[in-house]
Amino acid sequence: MNKEFNKMFDVETIRSDFPILNQEINGSPLIYFDNAASTQKPKSVITSISNYYKKDHSNVHRGVHSLSVRATEAYEESRRSIAQFINAAHDYEIILTKGSTESINLVANSITPQINKEDEILITTMEHHSNIVPWQELCIRTGAKLKVIPINTNGEIDLNALSQLINKRTRFVSLVHVSNTLGTINPVKAVIEMAKSVNAYTLIDGAQAVAHMDIDVQSLDCDFYVFSGHKLYGPTGIGVLYGKEECLQSLTPYQYGGEMILKVTFEETTYNELPHKFEAGTPNMAGAVGLRSAIDYLGSIDLDMARNHEMALHDYALNQLLLIPNIEIIGTANNKSAIISFIIKKLHPHDIGTILNQKAVAVRTGHHCTMPLMDHYKISGTIRASFSFYNTKDEVDVMIEALDMAINMLS
Ligand code: PMP
Repeated sequence: MNKEFNKMFDVETIRSDFPILNQEINGSPLIYFDNAASTQKPKSVITSISNYYKKDHSNVHRGVHSLSVRATEAYEESRRSIAQFINAAHDYEIILTKGSTESINLVANSITPQINKEDEILITTMEHHSNIVPWQELCIRTGAKLKVIPINTNGEIDLNALSQLINKRTRFVSLVHVSNTLGTINPVKAVIEMAKSVNAYTLIDGAQAVAHMDIDVQSLDCDFYVFSGHKLYGPTGIGVLYGKEECLQSLTPYQYGGEMILKVTFEETTYNELPHKFEAGTPNMAGAVGLRSAIDYLGSIDLDMARNHEMALHDYALNQLLLIPNIEIIGTANNKSAIISFIIKKLHPHDIGTILNQKAVAVRTGHHCTMPLMDHYKISGTIRASFSFYNTKDEVDVMIEALDMAINMLS
């Protein structure tokens, strides 16, 4: 059933929190439908970063002076707030990284000594390159085999095929929670249960999920969960690796140097405790402060209504798009997030995206870092509109008008 717009949700108030939205592109008001690539930042996030540098900045940990103590407190407070946000059992299960990509690389690198040539790693057809290439490289290093869980034509994981693929050689199952290209919400809990039945590790790529649904890593019971701050209304350059304590303990360090050590002599080094064992070098304190502020911002709005609004936009846009001749929607899963990928037969996505930009409509075009998925659909790319709670129904109408214009111009 289609979601309806809720009159109680005041999108104009929300929009006034996001200064970047208040601008014109090519003489028309900006319409930002590229939220899956990166979300915009509320004033509170921008101010928190600026205040951190104006008042609290110094290097973290070990400092005895006030600024270092304050910077350390701010950084560790962010970790606590992230742990609460995804319901991690312990703060030290949160490792702060550059983003989802670095978090996956960390795990795929640090698990190397536990993998051998008899082992199999499972991913799905719809993975982002960030959740393909690190595992390919692990397989090259170890001789393990990379196997791919197929999807059906709607863009849903084939759970029957998965039950055939998974076996006692499966050491790792790594899959995306919400596909950045198709919008599919994967049944990750069912996959995690299947993986556990053969004692395989699980990693969930939550880059597209955290901003749009409640995440409870204890209830999911995954071993690792990753996401990026910049897709959660926070700054770039900060992201999260959640790992169960025993899983993180079993990994070797990813990078070596300051912060990640307890004792160093020229002969040998003792590594630091969690989480510092995985945070070599000076971390991104301002990024952590900004990410905490983004989480606070989400806590200050009615998220149920916000998410309902996003899905109402999705449903409305989808119904309008389906009226356009020669359109094909790529990704029609039953359980979807507010992302729509489509192609117009015989027209190139980039040409359409360029004309939409003339009307100030920002959509993403191309393979969305999912080239194997494009191969699966035998296409080179799609046009992707991805919605946030600060978007409006009027903006969808402008996109549809601009799309009609683009099709007329190009046909
Ligand atoms: N996974 C998915 C599903 C994504 O959408 C993205 C970003 N497009 C990533 C991983 C990588 O995130 P980042 O570039 O922030 O590391």
